[in-house]
Amino acid sequence: MDPAPRLIIATRNAHKTAEIRAMIGDRFKVLDVTSFPACPEIEETGTTFLENARLKAEGISRVIDGWVLSDDSGLEVDALGGAPGVWSSSFGGEEGNHALNNARLLSEMAGKADRRARFRCTMVLAQGGKEVANFSGTVEGTIIADARGAKGFGYDPLFVPEGHTATFAELGDEVKNTLSHRARALTQAVEFLSQQTPR
Ligand code: IMP
Repeated sequence: MDPAPRLIIATRNAHKTAEIRAMIGDRFKVLDVTSFPACPEIEETGTTFLENARLKAEGISRVIDGWVLSDDSGLEVDALGGAPGVWSSSFGGEEGNHALNNARLLSEMAGKADRRARFRCTMVLAQGGKEVANFSGTVEGTIIADARGAKGFGYDPLFVPEGHTATFAELGDEVKNTLSHRARALTQAVEFLSQQTPR
């Protein structure tokens, strides 16, 4: 049997890679850019998830052979006019600092009656520096007033997905990976890839 084809995730976020790897199973050998020390840092200068996902997938696939899949994702909160959106990872003032991000979200949401929010994920699949396809997924939910749960990452302790009473951080990856924004985008990406790749 041929070895599973390689799929490079254009991220250094170990949580994203772990979720994607768990969802893909053994269909692909999932690596991320941490396995390629010479990989350039891609600046996320776009103003939409799609622009940033494109920058990452095209930029990384220029220097690594094979399929490259990027994930640009974030949280949109209705009462905050869609913020933090594409700036989700630096909302608290320091890139990737989830504690500061959650603290700012809680303080901006204090006293707000409308708690509706959604996670959005856009993935771009690229090869040789060019986009081949893109995929998107969302999950609707609400922002609670006090963090709950220790699993997951980012805003997971503050987000209760529609149809549940527990946060993503309480539900854990097994449930999160069946309904998350990332799962929904990835399902489409895997379907697309399985049509391209002989098994
Ligand atoms: P990116 O790496 O620029 O796509 O930023 C993604 C940011 O959005 C993360 O740092 C988190 O703050 C937030 N985010 C995206 N997906 C999730 C998720 O599944 N759970 C919690 N927070 C997420």
